[in-house]
Amino acid sequence: MRRAGLLTAIVVVGIAAAVVAGQGGGGRGAGPRIPPTGTIEKVKDNLYKIGGAGSNTTVFITAEGVVLVDTKLANNGEAIMKQVQTVTDKPVSLIINTHVHPDHNGSNDYFKAARPMVQVVTHENTKKWVAANPKANPAWMPDRTFTDKMTLGKGKDRIDFYYFGAGHTNGDAFVVFPALRAMCIGDLMAWNMGPLIDPATGGSIIALPDTLEKALKGIKNVDLVIEGHGNVNSWQGLRAYTEFHRALITVAKAALSRGEKPEQALAELEKNPKFAVFLKDELLKDLEYGGTPKSRALINLNVAFQELKGEPVTTNFGPARGAPPPPPPGK
Ligand SMILES: [Zn+2]
Repeated sequence: MRRAGLLTAIVVVGIAAAVVAGQGGGGRGAGPRIPPTGTIEKVKDNLYKIGGAGSNTTVFITAEGVVLVDTKLANNGEAIMKQVQTVTDKPVSLIINTHVHPDHNGSNDYFKAARPMVQVVTHENTKKWVAANPKANPAWMPDRTFTDKMTLGKGKDRIDFYYFGAGHTNGDAFVVFPALRAMCIGDLMAWNMGPLIDPATGGSIIALPDTLEKALKGIKNVDLVIEGHGNVNSWQGLRAYTEFHRALITVAKAALSRGEKPEQALAELEKNPKFAVFLKDELLKDLEYGGTPKSRALINLNVAFQELKGEPVTTNFGPARGAPPPPPPGK
């Protein structure tokens, strides 16, 4: 099935690199790999982040228990819990998945098995994609969903959920902690570079800047933006990233109307020095398996061309496509 195949591809991109590395003997020059579950880091007050092993896991400690936003790849539940226990004795009380991909809900089952009352919250469209996947783990299925906006809890423990349209998938949730002026943005923004677009779950590069602009308007009083993987960014950083993606669509349209190629659109973007950070041609730390920002921008220009022409999107993921070869041994 095309859809299931693409879903898998998102994670396989990374897993394949890790497996290859493992089979390479594990020595120097074994190639890039996904780092394991990392050490818990404080973002602000009672809000923490655990990197590695797929998505970031955001940890929000409330009066009732621990809220986890995303649970990494499968088989990382125990490693996540060990990190959580270094900052609190409270049990996990709620899981939020920012979207459907299995590097974000992969270890839901560990927490559901430990405490069956733990509920999973997602956007309504994410529930649809889980239901449509015959290979879905039952622990991916949300117990509660929202469509446009929802609030859970109050005061210091309040969590606001927002949805503004398609981007990485068509079920990407914005999860806001108002008391901390912080927000999780899932894979609408990861590593501060262009997202992988998953057309099989309704993702769209054309829709992405619209969605981000609506979020910039519709969400107030946020300073910290926890990305789906990698960084904690700022509201200003999100604004710059949104401008870059608006420009990416603008140059794609212009290049297409002149009969040019995505590479020429990329050269247009490179003329603007304020976009340099999104067009770096170097591998990022801990994302050595995932291509460079520049290779990702070119992939997304190809996706934009296909969407604009109404063709099926085939250039979705792929460090394999457009990414540089692994670094030489010893680097
Ligand atoms: Zn994703």
